Amino acid sequence: MNTPNLQTPIVYLKGVGPNRAETLQSELGIHTYQDLLNLFPNRYLDKTQYYKIGQLQRSNADVQIVGKIVNIKTVEQKRGKRLVATFVDDTGDMELVWFRGQKWIRENLKLNTAYVIFGRCNWFNGKFSMPHPDMELLTEHQKGLKVGMQPIYPSTEKLSNKGITNRVISKMMQQLFLETKARFSETLSDNILKEIHLLPKAESLLNIHFPKNQELLAKAQFRLKFEELFFIQLQLLTKKALRQQKIKGLPFDQVGEYFKEFYDHHLPFELTGAQKRVIKEIRQDLGSNAQMNRLLQGDVGSGKTIVGVMTMLLAIDNGYQACLMAPTEILANQHYTGIKKLLDKVGLNCALLTGSTKKSERTVIHANLENGSLHILVGTHALLEDKVQFQNLGLAIIDEQHRFGVAQRAKLWHKGGTPQNADNETSAGSLPPHILVMTATPIPRTLAMSLYGDLDISVIDELPPGRKPVKTVHRFDSNRLKVFGFVRDEIKKGRQVYVVYPLIQESEALDYKDLMDGYESIARDFPMPEYQISIVHGQMKPADKDYEMDRFVRGETQIMVATTVIEVGVNVPNASVMVIESAERFGLSQLHQLRGRVGRGADQSYCILMTGHKLSEESKTRLQTMTQTNDGFEIAEVDLKLRGPGDIMGTQQSGVLNLKIADIVKDNDILKTARHYAIQLLKTDPRLEKPENLPIRHAYSQIVKHKNIWNYIS
Ligand code: ADP
Ligand code: MG
Repeated sequence: MNTPNLQTPIVYLKGVGPNRAETLQSELGIHTYQDLLNLFPNRYLDKTQYYKIGQLQRSNADVQIVGKIVNIKTVEQKRGKRLVATFVDDTGDMELVWFRGQKWIRENLKLNTAYVIFGRCNWFNGKFSMPHPDMELLTEHQKGLKVGMQPIYPSTEKLSNKGITNRVISKMMQQLFLETKARFSETLSDNILKEIHLLPKAESLLNIHFPKNQELLAKAQFRLKFEELFFIQLQLLTKKALRQQKIKGLPFDQVGEYFKEFYDHHLPFELTGAQKRVIKEIRQDLGSNAQMNRLLQGDVGSGKTIVGVMTMLLAIDNGYQACLMAPTEILANQHYTGIKKLLDKVGLNCALLTGSTKKSERTVIHANLENGSLHILVGTHALLEDKVQFQNLGLAIIDEQHRFGVAQRAKLWHKGGTPQNADNETSAGSLPPHILVMTATPIPRTLAMSLYGDLDISVIDELPPGRKPVKTVHRFDSNRLKVFGFVRDEIKKGRQVYVVYPLIQESEALDYKDLMDGYESIARDFPMPEYQISIVHGQMKPADKDYEMDRFVRGETQIMVATTVIEVGVNVPNASVMVIESAERFGLSQLHQLRGRVGRGADQSYCILMTGHKLSEESKTRLQTMTQTNDGFEIAEVDLKLRGPGDIMGTQQSGVLNLKIADIVKDNDILKTARHYAIQLLKTDPRLEKPENLPIRHAYSQIVKHKNIWNYIS
């Protein structure tokens, strides 16, 4: 019989057959032998390790502990009884719990005798407990055969219903190793294997599925994680290199009059060191003959806008137009007003285009864009409409990019010319504009590196001078009177206040009611004419929103009651208090964005997170994180841990990585190593032509054939 290769359909594996093959396909995406081989266990039942009660973590993991039962009692509860035993070792105590078979257990358990227990620990009522543990007397246990690590594979309800249990999958895996004689080709070079002491591929696969011991398992995991991340990095870096070779950029070779004039005479403040550094990085991109694709990260209030403005001036100095796209109308408005004020001084033309721009104005804007008399266009998604055509778009800036999809980013490319003609060097008009993406949602470096490995990243890691960190506190709804008293005091000092309500799509009507109820109660507590209140929410007409917003910006109202529409970008330096209602319903990054609305002036600012008493563990972590730190990057890391990368990047990108074994958060160090080696490799052998790199080249082409992440990341 021929040894099957790994591309053989899974149906041919002995013990699978058409029915199971179909279930494996639909439930786990397993089509071939290779796919099954790459189904890695989620965890292992480790019967080689013994834990102490004092070391237990709230991880829900299965653990093995040696100790003894010191007492046992029956606890009556509404729905039947349960048997509870106190189990101790020299580091602490925990509970063992039985709901079934209590009589037998009670009669057979020995008190004050050493047992080995095994099972999953729960954290309950401030104590660890293990329901229905596997138990064995220590003396018996020591006589028995040592059992190793038992892999537990991913499962679904349908799999178990169809009888494809963990044992069945383990059996299939054994069969696969038998049939293929476990001859799995190496995918990395000898160099890399030696340098980082990696286990060879075949041995890693053997030990990931049938670990001989903890140490070999750890080595196998390391090797496979490294490999997975390495090939992703290789793809991203190759893509980046290709882009830099192929996609020529518009040559912005001069720093001209507008830039100099503005820089020398009209800068409203001294730039921070970080702002200067980032502008330098951008200037380097623009002068490099390659298209710029830069992500500018900076915490809320770090001053990204001015960097954007200076970049626009560079575009205009070189004879091009520029545009800036923002995610909401309010934000577009605010950018427009701010930019216009700055650039009027150097005599540049600037227009605003949003969904509510009148038709007659639009016609004028379209015409002026095409004849080139309009230098800068600021707006919302409206910029993406087909009718909007520039004469000469050289730079597109996208603010708060997490709101925009990849497809929209790509659409901007076509506004100034067609990138397909990028090879045609003679016609500058056919080159895509430079792209600068500004975001205040810090993307943890880990994620940025893996998802945006092809983007260049600049970071403004310094706030303008004189900013005081916002003081953040958590208050319960029952303390509302006190909170209102504080708000009143701040208003007396001349400050302004935001009160924000959640708005979550699924229950929009309900949230809207909350908002209106809240508004009414605030209006009662802060009566006219002493207090003036603005309200802004998504169901208002844009003109009404603007009117209310303007009143607040001008200081005519002291309180702004709003939904999250004010989340991004809005800048009212005199507002120094942010009250967030039902704060437990907001995500971390949203809370941080909201908090960023205050702390923009010289006064001490406050963020008050209001909640009820009932809070989940996760909500508590979020609130705690907020009260403990103002650092957006730290917050983003916690957020990533709580939610996982998929949610953070939006569904569109969550499927991009689809990691089989590596964990982008926990395996950060491996990621860095993998990136380092991928960079080194491409430096010394960019086309993977050297004989020693053949295994990599072969594996790489296989991967690109089957799962090309280029298709997902623009
Ligand atoms: P963000 O990065 O959140 O978009 P902005 O660009 O809106 O921040 O800037 C926040 C505020 O800080 C604005 O009022 C802006 O004028 C001010 N600002 C920006 N840079 C500086 C600086 N170097 N010195 C003083 N104030 C600055
Ligand atoms: Mg901004």
